[in-house]
Amino acid sequence: MPIYEYECSGCGHRFEFLVLPSSPTPECPECQEKDLKRLISLCAVSSETTREAHLAKARKKADAIRQDKQHEEHKALHAEHD
Ligand SMILES: [Zn+2]
Repeated sequence: MPIYEYECSGCGHRFEFLVLPSSPTPECPECQEKDLKRLISLCAVSSETTREAHLAKARKKADAIRQDKQHEEHKALHAEHD
């Protein structure tokens, strides 16, 4: 099942989105922005354990970004070099 990680172009929030044929267009859970950048395809990872690790890592990253929200300028700078 394809799970994609997206980064919101609006607020920089990163999140995972499970893509099903019936899924609506993904949007940012933080600001409902639909202009998203797809980062990685987690379904390309063969091992279930590795996939779990990737998900945990992605969540940790998202948490870190959330905690880092006061540093908007730094984040914008970082995004440019992505
Ligand atoms: Zn957003």
